[in-house]
Amino acid sequence: MKFCPDCNTNKEFSEFYKRDYGYTTRCKVCHINRQKLYTEKTGYKIKSRNKPRILEYNKFYYRNHVLKFTFKSAKYRAAKLKRTPHWLTQEHWKQIEAFYIEAKRLTQVTGIPHEVDHIVPLQGKNVSGLHVPWNLQILTESQNCSKNNLTYSDKSAIIKNKEAEKAAQNEDDPNKCGAW
Ligand SMILES: [Zn+2]
Repeated sequence: MKFCPDCNTNKEFSEFYKRDYGYTTRCKVCHINRQKLYTEKTGYKIKSRNKPRILEYNKFYYRNHVLKFTFKSAKYRAAKLKRTPHWLTQEHWKQIEAFYIEAKRLTQVTGIPHEVDHIVPLQGKNVSGLHVPWNLQILTESQNCSKNNLTYSDKSAIIKNKEAEKAAQNEDDPNKCGAW
């Protein structure tokens, strides 16, 4: 029998991990709990022989939470670049989110990564687009990478952006969304 100071009980040796130097101070249960606590506190994953497995898991986790990541990072990027108009309504936000949900669905159904793209880039060379529903489209990763010239839909989005900005200047919308 061996005493575990964490759970304050005597346990069989089989309840402890075996190491080169003998048995771990704490029982298996408490040992794992400590590691979890440490990881949560520091965000640091303990190096182990399982590293490839952990990396694989992280990838898996990322894929499964990709909607959350992409939606948040797009929101962040747009906010940072000040390309999200203050006059977006709740309805607009729902429409924006729908693009990210649809991109995730297409990714899952087809197995081909789909991304939400800004038709007019947020940081374009000549003109900068807005983070608004009508400036969004769903592309596959490869389509997105090969995209470099303005297309017809790009031009119409530019015009629509200008019209919307003008309209917003003319009216003081009391329902404007204060998300930012
Ligand atoms: Zn214990």
